[in-house]
Amino acid sequence: MKDYYKIMNKTEVKEVELRPYQQDLINRTRQQITQGKKSICVVLGCGGGKSVIQGMIAASATTKGNRVLFIVHRKELCEQITDTFRMCGVDFELCSVEMVGTVSRRLDKIPTPAVIITDEAHHSLAATYRKIYDKFPDAIRLGFTATPCRLGSGGLGEIFDSLIEGVSTKWLIDSHYLAPYKYYSIKLADVKGVRVTHGEYNQSDIAQLMEKNMIYGSTVDEYIRLANGKRTIVYCASVEASKHTAAEHLDGETDKNRRANIIGQFRAGQITVLCNVDLFGEGFDVPDCECVMLVRPTKSLTLYIQQSMRSMRYKPDKTAIIIDLVANVYTHGLPDEPREWTLKAKRHTAQNKVTVRQCPVCFCVLPSTSKICSECGYEFQKQERAEAEQLDMEMKELTPEEILKAKPYDYYKDISTFDEMKRFQRAKGYKFAWVIHKCVELGISIPDKYNNMRRIMGV
Ligand SMILES: [Zn+2]
Repeated sequence: MKDYYKIMNKTEVKEVELRPYQQDLINRTRQQITQGKKSICVVLGCGGGKSVIQGMIAASATTKGNRVLFIVHRKELCEQITDTFRMCGVDFELCSVEMVGTVSRRLDKIPTPAVIITDEAHHSLAATYRKIYDKFPDAIRLGFTATPCRLGSGGLGEIFDSLIEGVSTKWLIDSHYLAPYKYYSIKLADVKGVRVTHGEYNQSDIAQLMEKNMIYGSTVDEYIRLANGKRTIVYCASVEASKHTAAEHLDGETDKNRRANIIGQFRAGQITVLCNVDLFGEGFDVPDCECVMLVRPTKSLTLYIQQSMRSMRYKPDKTAIIIDLVANVYTHGLPDEPREWTLKAKRHTAQNKVTVRQCPVCFCVLPSTSKICSECGYEFQKQERAEAEQLDMEMKELTPEEILKAKPYDYYKDISTFDEMKRFQRAKGYKFAWVIHKCVELGISIPDKYNNMRRIMGV
């Protein structure tokens, strides 16, 4: 049965259809408030549709004559949210949607809200937010986020006293609210030695690293191999990097009209690959895409989740593709990995230990419990399984063998000599007979001493 919510607005009756789990989150939030909780953090996975929930809560508050202050941290979000809120029937006489910076500068001019709703609440430990909370201590505080944690230290428990968890990302995929995905990781650059500034990799170090590893050409290669022709968003580490990767590029400095124009062309399918730096981040209304490429190493789980899941908007029969060229998955796990959230400050012991395993043949990244690659059918050996568990991706310089090993399976088609094929086979750890098969397939001459072996193999 579908849940309908009707709200009387001054001008018209609005009808918004809520998914059952969204309604459930609203009910649980309401319950907590009834029980006297004053600051609640609501966790809902990316793509779970939190703005409708926020809109319904805001509408219900304004209907009762309560003033709502809704704070966002990016200008672009104000417009989007206002549209959703209008649809939900929020009374804008009593609700204002504001940028956090604007609010914190005009605190004395703002009418006292009964409810403060914070979007992307993982930011709420920042001083600008605290200033607002401190100014209105009696307001009920609601925060929404997909990742209730923050770079560096500090738990959201300093701001919120209660945590409500919505359905998980895995549930959203299984229930067809998000598209399933394939995750490929081809590590082309190593973050060892990269400095960390304020909990995140140093921008200029990362830019240099990308440059040194000539990662941009490889980005194009991997796109062609795994997602050719698919609408793709590439997340780069720096503006320079983004421009290098070719395709169309957008960043915060891109003129607004030009930005709209490029996004329009992307939506219309006239542009297939869009590179950007931190633009299509939180909540920003990114056009639908089928593939994302991660070319920016990050220590932020929030950023990782937002970027990697950008291609997962649901469409029937769609499978999203995630191509991770910077090993982010080894830091953060797969996007739908079960995670335990807490409002407590992060301890340095790995709280959510990453457990993934990579198929050596097709580079697909799978949960560590996988015995068979769901992509290519490769069977993991016991020993490999043990190795995967203690892999933890130690960062080191790549040797020529490792570079070869990191090449995609199809790389063999570019090989023209028997010896080179043998090197590739060794690096990959395939059986020797594979070399014979592939040389026969490609018409590469095989030394006579293998004639007997070929006879036995029947090739
Ligand atoms: Zn595989």
